[in-house]
Amino acid sequence: MKRNLLLTPGPTKVPPQLCAVLGQPIIHHRTPEFQDNLKTVVQGLKDIIQTKNDVYLLASSGTGGMEAAVVNILSPGDTAIAVDSGKFGERWVDLCRTYQANTIVHKVPWGKAPTAADIKKLLAAHPEAKAVYITLVETSTGVVTDVKSIGEVIKHSKALLVVDAVSGLAVEDLQADAWAVDMVVSGSHKGLMLPPGVAFISASSKAIAMINACPTPRLYFDLREAKKALDKTDTPFTPAIGIIIAMVESLRMIKHRGLQNSFKHFAHLAEGTRAGCKAIGMELFPDPACASIALTAVKVPAGIDGEQLTKAMRDTHGISIAGGQDQLKGKIIRIAHMGAVEESDILVGLECLEKVLQDMGHTFARGASLTAAQKAFNTAAKV
Ligand SMILES: *Cc1c(COP(=O)(O)O)cnc(C)c1O
Repeated sequence: MKRNLLLTPGPTKVPPQLCAVLGQPIIHHRTPEFQDNLKTVVQGLKDIIQTKNDVYLLASSGTGGMEAAVVNILSPGDTAIAVDSGKFGERWVDLCRTYQANTIVHKVPWGKAPTAADIKKLLAAHPEAKAVYITLVETSTGVVTDVKSIGEVIKHSKALLVVDAVSGLAVEDLQADAWAVDMVVSGSHKGLMLPPGVAFISASSKAIAMINACPTPRLYFDLREAKKALDKTDTPFTPAIGIIIAMVESLRMIKHRGLQNSFKHFAHLAEGTRAGCKAIGMELFPDPACASIALTAVKVPAGIDGEQLTKAMRDTHGISIAGGQDQLKGKIIRIAHMGAVEESDILVGLECLEKVLQDMGHTFARGASLTAAQKAFNTAAKV
C-alpha cells in the first residue's frame, strides 16, 4: 500500500487509536449511551477552549461553525469588524458581506498579525460594531494572532470577540475565559486529529444575549436550537455520531499529554522543522515575531515551482504538504505540525523535500535539513 502521510494543515493525520474507534458500528444518537459520549465531549472541548461557556456541536466543516458565528449575531446593516490577514480572514469578510453586514475590513499584510492598537482604533471609529472577527492561526500564512491583547481592548466594548480557532485549537494557547473571547469556532480535522465533519462553537453569556436578540432568519445553524438541545444533552439534528464518539478518545489523548505539554511539543516540532528548512535555503515566510507553532510556511527557493514541488511529494512519494494560496501560489510551501504529527514524521517529510528539491535542480548539501532538524530536536526541551 502506498504511503499517505498528511503534513497538511487540515485534514491532519488520524492516529491508529482513533481509526480503530472510527471503525466501530454506529449507534443511535437518541440513547443514553450516545448522551454519555456527548457529555464527555462537550466537557473535553470546554477544557481545551479553556472556558466554562456553552459549547455547541454542529455537523459541518469548520466554515459551518464560522457561518453560525455570523448568522446568529449579525443582521443586514449591522456593523462588524473583520480582520483579513489571509485566506481565512477573507472568509470572515465574505461571510459578513453575504449576510449584508456593514463590514469594516481590517486588511493586514500577509505574514503579519493584527495588533490590539489597530483594533482599538477601529472600535473607537465604529462603536456600534456588534462583533470583531479574528483568526487564531491564519493557516494560509502561518501566523498566530495575539488574542489576549485584542481581548483586552474589546472586553469593555459592546462588541463580541469571535475567534476562528479551527487550525489553532489544542496547538496554540487560547484561554477563552481569561482572555474575554465570546465565541471560539473550531472543528474536528486539525488539532483534534479526526476526519472533518464536526464543527463546534463556544458562546459567552454576552454572545448568548446577542444570539437571542438577532432577528436574522436561520434554521440549520440556529444556535438558539443548539442551546435548547445542549441543555438536554442532545443536538437539534442528527450529529456526526461516529466522529463525536471518536472525539472522546482524541480529547482523552490531548488531556493525557496535557495542554501545556502539547504547546511545548508543537513549539519543539516547529523549531526542528524551521531549522531543517533553513539549512537547505528555505526561509520562514511570516514575520518570525508572529509565526505560529501549528505550521511552518517557508519560501520556495528561487527558480523552483512550489506547486510542482508539493505535487511531486504527494504523487511520487505519498507525503502531502500544502502549497501557497492566491498571491503565494507556487511561492511558499506549508508543513503542518499539529495534531498527531511527531518528530519522525517531520524527518520523513524533510527527507522527501530534499529528494524532490534535488530532482528539481536546487543545489544544497544533501542531508543538511535532517542534520539541522535532528540537532534542534535533540537540544530543544523534551516533553
Ligand atoms: C481549515 C480552516 C478553516 C475551516 O475550513 P473548512 O474547510 O471549512 O473546514 C477555517 N479557518 C481556518 C484558519 C482553517 O485553517
